[in-house]
Amino acid sequence: ASKRHSSKKCVRITKQLYEDVTYKFNMTNKIKQAIESEEFFMVYQGVYDVIKSQNTFIEALVRWKDDSNTTLLPGEFIPLAEESGLMIELDQTIINTTLKEFSAIKQNDRYKHLKVTINISRNKLLQVNFPERLKKITDHYKLKSSDICIEINENTFIDKINLCKEQIKRLKELGYLIAIDDFGKEYSSLSILNKVDFDIIKVDKTFVDGIKDKSNIEIVKMILNVARVKGKQVIVEGIETKEQKDVLEKLGVRLMQGYYFNYPSKLEI
Ligand code: C2E
Ligand code: MG
Ligand code: MG
Ligand code: MG
Repeated sequence: ASKRHSSKKCVRITKQLYEDVTYKFNMTNKIKQAIESEEFFMVYQGVYDVIKSQNTFIEALVRWKDDSNTTLLPGEFIPLAEESGLMIELDQTIINTTLKEFSAIKQNDRYKHLKVTINISRNKLLQVNFPERLKKITDHYKLKSSDICIEINENTFIDKINLCKEQIKRLKELGYLIAIDDFGKEYSSLSILNKVDFDIIKVDKTFVDGIKDKSNIEIVKMILNVARVKGKQVIVEGIETKEQKDVLEKLGVRLMQGYYFNYPSKLEI
């Protein structure tokens, strides 16, 4: 009986594996086709400056309207795009679209002060000619590189730190701003802040969710202190309520992002 049981189990695992592989294979092909048929589009979320009472940045966030007209969120396709090696190409598509749309709204004098921030995957950052390619597109759309910020997730730096540093150095030389995204979410080590030449720390939403907890407040204070000493800016992500905004404002947070201020939406050009 136990033998039969174990063979049954074996069949089940194989079926699961088969379904996983099939799903991945189909999704990978769908992503490939979707890049070609331009099914990806960008929405933008403001980064609000509570002193100036206006958005100083807009963050570009990708969405996918697939062939069944369903809009998918990055969490539903980015992990697979990364795993299948398609993320470098998708990031390129995202950069092209974002800079094109950003250059269009920059025609309006109302948006003179506005900067754009773009999320970049680790593999894109490490792509050999990435900084030069980015500069080419920036020039093509007659944009200033100092109006463009590249967001790099904190977990990018888990290895190949010297390669990451070199690419960032090159981006900085070309005039781009660098933000460390999701700071404090998972793997962050404070030493990143000394190793990497960045302009902005984006503090992860987890600290905002727990902002009633004294230890979260102390961590935010600590990050603000480090940033002040180093002359860097801080953006706190994921503010959903007035209470959260008020606590953070009292702590001296100037730049905030979250549903309390606005939801990501298409640009009105
Ligand atoms: P992220 O870069 O940290 O972006 C912030 C995410 O938090 C966005 O989710 C945004 O919609 C969401 N958000 C903003 N305010 C709030 C809030 O108040 N409450 C809550 N619960 N969520 C809020 P989204 O668009 O689903 O993106 C998720 C992640 O996927 C991003 O995290 C980023 O790491 C990645 N991603 C998104 N767009 C791109 C892209 O164009 N390229 C690359 N490489 N990655 C992207
Ligand atoms: Mg981001
Ligand atoms: Mg990000
Ligand atoms: Mg983030």
